Amino acid sequence: MNSRMTKPRVLVTGAGGFIGGHLVSSLRETAASVRAVDIKPFDSWYQRFDDVENLELDLRLRDPCMTAARGIDEVYQLACDMGGMGFIENNKALCMLSVLINTHMLEATVHHGGSKFFYASSACVYNADKQRGYDVTPLRESDAYPAMPEDGYGWEKLFSERMCRHFAEDFGLTARVARFHNVYGPHGTWDGGREKAPAAICRKVVAAVADADHRIEIWGDGKQGRSFTYIDDCVEGIRRLMDSDLSEPINLGSSETVTINDLVDLVEDVAGVRLERSYKLDAPKGVDGRSSDNTMILDRLGWAPATPLRVGIERTYHWIEEQFAARASGGRYVE
Ligand code: NAD
Repeated sequence: MNSRMTKPRVLVTGAGGFIGGHLVSSLRETAASVRAVDIKPFDSWYQRFDDVENLELDLRLRDPCMTAARGIDEVYQLACDMGGMGFIENNKALCMLSVLINTHMLEATVHHGGSKFFYASSACVYNADKQRGYDVTPLRESDAYPAMPEDGYGWEKLFSERMCRHFAEDFGLTARVARFHNVYGPHGTWDGGREKAPAAICRKVVAAVADADHRIEIWGDGKQGRSFTYIDDCVEGIRRLMDSDLSEPINLGSSETVTINDLVDLVEDVAGVRLERSYKLDAPKGVDGRSSDNTMILDRLGWAPATPLRVGIERTYHWIEEQFAARASGGRYVE
């Protein structure tokens, strides 16, 4: 199946998570059917839709992957045991075990005759030597080799990219791979240790305002350079990539580069406060500088993420503010 004339039956794995939840929300508008799978209990998924098939499965195991892929045309593989720097620097073995999910999902897709496979890779595949120093040179797709990715998480992502390539070559699977760069937005992890910098900084500012304690702790010296991609751009990029003929891994990230200090400035502006900063220099802080070179995506897809950071941060800050208030009053708010 899966011609552009016929609507595909799609599977989203990791659907209870941040990006997976947004992707289900988008695909249910256009797909013939959507199956959403996550290991988490359904009531803790970040977004829940009653008009799709929702399954709780552990996709590290082969049989549940077979169940998930049965009768499916297109697979969007986003399930992964991951988090921000604080998580991936301290859980390298766990991060590498996601190779089980990728391996079994690729096998199950081919076994059931699925025709297209999307894989969520990461900017963490890029060679660490290209990310030294605060002078950020945007990363081109070719900068992943010679391989020296982020230890643990990045190696697993690079290996799984490679597996997608060989499943395409050997079994005729159409595989599409996007290297996400720091995706942020509402309905993501904002506390608990797996959150990433934008959500962590928004939460710290919300807490400082709520507690009238006008101080903030920043991981590293705040001079690290980054680009942050708003969730709507991420979902649109995935969908454009799946409709394209682009078989190589591609950057899916914003090219708007800021330092962590700039990001804190922006969140403070949105909150209307100024906080006293302290820097935790021994905290996990990742590479010195990282941003997305969007030459290839512009050239091949005629499009690139364009949501200004200020716009995305305003939406994210207000969503986290609501979650924080709901939790403080004993509830769980996710709408
Ligand atoms: P997330 O943690 O919110 O979502 C991942 C989901 O996978 C979670 O809901 C988790 O429960 C699920 N999962 C974990 N192990 C599973 C298993 N064994 N079986 C079934 N489900 C399982 O993360 P996210 O931010 O939505 O990321 C989605 C994908 O994008 C991941 O592959 C991640 O590595 C990749 N990525 C994300 C970012 C980002 O900035 N968010 C950046 C680069 C790459």
